[in-house]
This record gives sequence, structure tokens and C-alpha cells, in this order.
Amino acid sequence: MIRPPSLAPRLRSARTWIVLGVLAPLGMLALSVSMLLDMRRDAWERAEQTSQNLLQVIERDIARNVELIDLTLRAVIDNMKASGLSETSPHLRQLILFGRAGTTRDMGALIVLDENGDNVIDVSGMPSKHLNNADRAYFKVHRERADLGLHISPPLISRVLGVPIVVLSRRIDRPDGSFGGVVLGSLKLSYFSGIFERVVLGKDSGINLYLRDGTHLMRHPQREDDIGASIAGQPNFATYLAARSGRFTARSGRDDIERLYSFTRVGDLPLILNVAVSVREIEAEWRDKALVIGLAVLALCGLAIALSLLFGRELRRSAAMQAELARLSLTDGLTGLANRRRYDEMLALRWAEARRSGAPLALLVVDVDHFKGWNDRCGHGVGDALLRGLGNRLSRAVQRPGDLVCRIGGEEFAILLPETDAAGTARIAAGLHAAVARLAIPEAGIEAGAVTVSIGLALGPQDAADTADALYRRADAALYAAKAGGRNQTQSAPRMEPKTLRLVEA
Ligand code: GH3
Ligand code: MG
Ligand code: MG
Repeated sequence: MIRPPSLAPRLRSARTWIVLGVLAPLGMLALSVSMLLDMRRDAWERAEQTSQNLLQVIERDIARNVELIDLTLRAVIDNMKASGLSETSPHLRQLILFGRAGTTRDMGALIVLDENGDNVIDVSGMPSKHLNNADRAYFKVHRERADLGLHISPPLISRVLGVPIVVLSRRIDRPDGSFGGVVLGSLKLSYFSGIFERVVLGKDSGINLYLRDGTHLMRHPQREDDIGASIAGQPNFATYLAARSGRFTARSGRDDIERLYSFTRVGDLPLILNVAVSVREIEAEWRDKALVIGLAVLALCGLAIALSLLFGRELRRSAAMQAELARLSLTDGLTGLANRRRYDEMLALRWAEARRSGAPLALLVVDVDHFKGWNDRCGHGVGDALLRGLGNRLSRAVQRPGDLVCRIGGEEFAILLPETDAAGTARIAAGLHAAVARLAIPEAGIEAGAVTVSIGLALGPQDAADTADALYRRADAALYAAKAGGRNQTQSAPRMEPKTLRLVEA
């Protein structure tokens, strides 16, 4: 059965924690960005909805009032067809023509002009104050065109009231179709400003009413020089003409402020109404929140990343420390060679390998001759220096990566040589003697040739019953033989049956 890989090593890895510690805040950051974008979308949706509602309410109000005046104008034209009207008294004629119209607060004058532009009758006073409006553009245009229907003029100053007005007018046709004059009703511009001013808007936002030819009828907040000016040439205006209603974002040609424009035709009248809300004002509240949330999230993410990097560094440090401790636990402090514990581990490992491969494992046990004498004569300091120098020589005398030199006792070294036969091992032992012969430590007063070693050499496994312990015992016995044979020499353990070996030891 295949076991799932364990999580524990991954959780101990500094890299895992660093990756998690960076990914988690990044995820948090992505989530916050998406939330902030949602909030921004909400702000826009609210602004669009509010603009739309405003447009609808204002549009209905204006359309209703203008249509009321238009109805009055049509009624006057119809009533004028009544026979015998010219013979009635002015008061009666007034009543027949105008009924109760003209009493609306915002309506200025309601006047009938004859074909010469003279006011024939006026709702505001009896007898009519004499007035000639033949010079007015609306009069001229009605005189020239019979098919105009309701005409709405650009802003004018009323000759009756002396205040800014727009004039709504219709042509009066004689029975033969010729021009018979104009009936007109004026609407004070203050009517529009009255509606607009009820709406509270930001300082860069506004409401505008245009004629379809681009003439600015009213603006809120009011700006005198805008009223009556034309925006026909501006790119936004083409969009107003292209659709009945709509919405777009653009920079104003006048003040370069970016705004959301919502616009609509007013009923079927030649009027265009728009609500323009500054983008900065739409996003102002959102921007403040986004700034606070964004900074807080960034700070938290930064903190989390910094902490996980620190944590990762600490984990790495402690892993390095553990590795160093592990290395030290397997190293001899005096010579820097592998120590007894490492020797035991490696002997077991190499022995198992040798068993598997069938290749011989050679073991050399090296002991300094008369080492006690060095200690006694020159002191332990010199003895230690000698051991360090010797360790250095021994490890330089073996070449292969698998070879291992260990200090297994006071002045006793063991050398493991995997896959090395008897002849090769003997050559290496000879090399060791030569290297030791060259060892000189002038600062300790040790000259070349002064130090010698005895070496016991053994190979294994000899047979199926052979063990690593037996290999060591054979090498040690051979060392004993080398000492007994006069020192400064190598002795190989003879191929012996385990039984015989035990006899020798005894
Ligand atoms: P031989 O092996 O040739 O028979 O003589 P030897 O003098 O080397 O004999 P023995 O093995 O009995 O002596 C080992 C001495 O090594 C005993 C001890 O004082 C000394 N020794 C053991 N470990 C250290 C060490 O770490 N530093 C020093 N300076 N001396 C040590
Ligand atoms: Mg010894
Ligand atoms: Mg010795």
C-alpha cells in the first residue's frame, strides 16, 4: 500500500512557512481589492440611480407645466374660432379666450398678437397695454412657417414683466390658412431655477436644461453668463441629440471636470434635461474609505509578510544550528576527524554495503608508537599537536570519497576503505607510514621521521558468518602483532576461521 507523504517535514520547512506567510496576505490583499472595487461599483450604481430618479421627477414637472401652457394656447386658438367673438365686450372675450388660464404662478403673460405683432388681448390687464412684438424671433418664425406647432424661445427679457422668461407660442391660422397672428404664453425662468434649487448637489455637479438647438435655458447652480449661451458645438451635445435618453461619462469642455451625465428629452418637447454629477464627488466617500481600508490592509499584509520572513529566518537558523550540532556530535573536537560514533555508524553501513555488493571492505587500525613518551617528555600540548598533525596527514593519505578516517580512541585511528582489496589496502598502509614519516611539527619540536605508527589491517566479509565486530577484532589483533613485531609496520590479519580468531584473542 502506498502511504501518503507525511505533512510533518513540510510544516518544519522554513520555505513552507515563508510561502504560506507571503501567499496568505497576498490572498487577503486580493480579497480587499475586490471588495473595494465592489464598493466603488456600488457608489456608481447609487449615483446613476439617484441621477435617474432626479431626471424623472424634474422632467415630469417641466413636461406637465409646459404641456399645460400649450393646452391653454391651443384652447385659445380653438376659442378664437368661435363666431361673433369680435363683437363681444373685451371682458367677455377675455373670459372666452383664456378661461381661468394664466393664473399659474410661474406663467408670465398670455397674449394674442395679430398678424402685425400688436397685442390684441392680454390676460394680465384690461384694456391691454399696447405692445408690438413683430420684432421677436418667435413671431417672425411663425409668420414664415405654418407647420411649426409649439415653439419655445431662447431666454428673453419680458416686455410686460421685465424678468427673464421663455416664450411658448403657437401660430394662429386664418380660415384660408394665411398667417393670422401668434398666441403666446411666457414662463418665467425662475420656474426652472425654483425646481432645480430644491435639489442638493455637490459643488462640481449640476442640472441643465437646453433647447434642442443647444441654447442653455437654465443651469443649477446658476451662472448668469451660461443662460442663453449655446453648447451646440460641444461634443457632449451630439450625444444628447442622438438618443432620447442616456448616460455617459465625459470631461466638460468648459472646466475639464469629469462628470457622469444622465440626460433625457422632456416629454415630446424640444427640451433636453441633464443631471451632471462630478466623478470625484461620486467616488469621494468611497475614496476616503478605500484609503483607510487600503492602508490598513497593506500595513497588515506587510506585517504578516515581515513576520513570516522573520519566522522563516529563525527556522532556517535553528535548522542550521541543528545541522551543526549533528555534525559536531559526529566529529572529534581535537582533530576535526569523524569520531567514534560516526565510525560505528559508518562501519555498520559500509559492512552492509559490502555484504550486498560482495566487494571487500578494508579496515586499518592505526596506533601511534610510544605516544605516552611524547606526552611524558613534551607535555600534553605537544601530544595534542601531534595528534592533530597526524589526523591531517592520515586524511590526506586516503583519496576516494567513500574512504573515512576516524579517531576512535586516544591516539588510535581507524580508516574504512570500501571496495578495496588486500593489495590496494597494503599500498595505502605503506602510504600512511610514508606520510607519518614526513610529519614534522617544528613549533612542537617534532622533526620528520620522529613519529611512527603501527597499523593492523583486516578485510571482510570473509564468509556469511563474518561480522563487522569480527573485522575490527581481526584488525586489532593484527595491530597487536605489528606492535609485537617491533612497531612502525603494518600487519595483515590472516584469513582465519572465526573459531581460530577467538583462540588468537584468548
Ligand atoms: P605503544 O602504543 O607503542 O605500545 O605505546 P603507547 O605509549 O602509545 O601506549 P598506550 O597506547 O598505552 O598509550 C596511550 C597514551 O595516549 C595514554 C594517554 O596518556 C595518551 N593519550 C590518550 N588520549 C590522548 C589525548 O587526547 N591527548 C594526549 N596528549 N594524549 C592522549
Ligand atoms: Mg594506544
Ligand atoms: Mg600507542
